[in-house]
Amino acid sequence: MVRMWKPELETLPREKLEQRQLKLFRQQMHYVMEESPFYRRKFAGICPGDIKTMDDVRRLPFTTKQELLQSQQEHPPFGDFACIRPNQATRVFQTSGTTGVPLRVPLTKKDWFENFHDQFSYYLYGYGINSDDIAFFPFIYGLFVAWWGMQATMEAHEVTIVPGGGQTSENRLRGIIDWGATVVCGTPTYIIYLGELAQKIGIDLPGSKVRIVVTAGEPGAQVPATKSVVEKLWGAKNYDDIGSTEISNFGFECVTQKGTHMIESMFLPESLDLETGNHAGQGEIGQLVLSNLCCESVPLLRYKTGDLVRFDYGQCECGRTFLRMDGGVLGRADDMFHFGGVNIFPSAIENFIRSIPEFSTEYRLVIPPAGTGEKLLIQVEPATNDMSVESMQSAVGRFIDDVVYNVRITPRVEVVNPGSLTRFEGKAKRIVRL
Ligand SMILES: [Zn+2]
Repeated sequence: MVRMWKPELETLPREKLEQRQLKLFRQQMHYVMEESPFYRRKFAGICPGDIKTMDDVRRLPFTTKQELLQSQQEHPPFGDFACIRPNQATRVFQTSGTTGVPLRVPLTKKDWFENFHDQFSYYLYGYGINSDDIAFFPFIYGLFVAWWGMQATMEAHEVTIVPGGGQTSENRLRGIIDWGATVVCGTPTYIIYLGELAQKIGIDLPGSKVRIVVTAGEPGAQVPATKSVVEKLWGAKNYDDIGSTEISNFGFECVTQKGTHMIESMFLPESLDLETGNHAGQGEIGQLVLSNLCCESVPLLRYKTGDLVRFDYGQCECGRTFLRMDGGVLGRADDMFHFGGVNIFPSAIENFIRSIPEFSTEYRLVIPPAGTGEKLLIQVEPATNDMSVESMQSAVGRFIDDVVYNVRITPRVEVVNPGSLTRFEGKAKRIVRL
């Protein structure tokens, strides 16, 4: 029996789901035009009551991160897109700002205690986590949104929480065993790092009580080879968790592990063709555009997330009708690069690297300047110190075949010393442009 948080909504036929989304969208549009000068300007001359179909929604202007950053610069602290006064914030978060100035995001009491709770309850029921579970969070909390909401919601559902911040990775691993953790959360990169460290220091994770590993922050749980590495290292199921600071938490994987469900009762998702900007249909890759239908503090409408997705509208074996992102978030629109006449997703290359047992899970892509005729350089490491030259040569040959056949470019592959590539605790940065 598949358990659902809101079965009456999670199994709504598509037509009813869209009617509900359009109704909530009109209400939200009315609300933002009342409360936010930014949206009053953006939607000037448009009446929310006129938005009757998905096509009407698609004619509305987008919201971009650049606009939000500019609005915050001109109207500190939260920008004039915010619908609340600063003192109404119960909690604030901030984006990592790795690509520039960080964005501040306030949440009201309702956003934090009701909306976040609802969103993560969908996740927990989706993963099959319940009050018998013990969850270990190997993470130091700060302004970054990661795991705060998940942890709070687990507490509300009486899951036992073991805080795992402020410790070495080795002590975290011992904590996971000693506390009998059944659930562990982290980025795919860090979870793999912990798994490999456990092997090195003789801790038997597959023999431990851990049954679920939740990963977020990078494509990973939905990159088949990465999921398989995580599940082998931990002897546990690996489920995907998708969200972002500015638009909150919108996607979870269910126990069937056949794509990441979008919480369509709280968001209106669109996928747009990268070249034409038109609606990307079933099975086509597009950029994810999201409208947050429930948020009170900073409800973004038609927000360009920069995430690349492929929608599947077919009903899932779990019974949910919420659409699935096939392969989760496939990558970032700005990570995707054009090389040798093709669009390349780093996650596709990652999938091939992690399918080859002779390679470690780390890698680096070095993109040469356009027009130089140089090949894309892919750096990989041997999985262990004692790998023979012959077996590495054969592995590199198989890997190049995979890339040539599937990605349609011929890369240059360099094998570097084991352990010499950077390991990341947070979001990994593995692409270098020369
Ligand atoms: Zn499902």
